[in-house]
Amino acid sequence: MSSIFTKIIKGEIPSYKIAEDERFYAFLDINPNAKGHTLVIPKKEVDKLFDLDAETYVGLMQFAHKVAKALEKTIDCNRVGMTVVGLEVPHAHVHLIPINRVSDINFTSKKLAMQQEDFVKLAKEISRNFES
Ligand code: 5GP
Repeated sequence: MSSIFTKIIKGEIPSYKIAEDERFYAFLDINPNAKGHTLVIPKKEVDKLFDLDAETYVGLMQFAHKVAKALEKTIDCNRVGMTVVGLEVPHAHVHLIPINRVSDINFTSKKLAMQQEDFVKLAKEISRNFES
């Protein structure tokens, strides 16, 4: 069975897309730790990040780098943090989270409540700052 992220890539489940190319896809996390919390995934479905082949892994990091630069341009923050968890969705991904304090990257902290229109607007803004 396809992962929920593969369904997102195929457009079977909607997402607030930031950017994509032939191999990678970036979109806003639906339950953000902080404003701009973004997931960056390979289109190839592999459960664990460190089970990716080296080329896909390096490509994912290069793509995540460009997404992080777009986040920095869009969101007023101290820096963009990056985390790997993967306990919920078995499709390799990294979390990019604009942070000001350590609690912004703590997954047990209270989540940020955002309305659909806020997600749409934010995804557009970040996307505009993404340099492919
Ligand atoms: P992890 O697998 O790294 O523990 O967490 C998966 C992340 O994916 C969580 O932060 C969760 O909010 C996010 N997530 C789960 N399902 C969806 C979804 O359908 N759409 C989006 N945009 N994010 C999701």
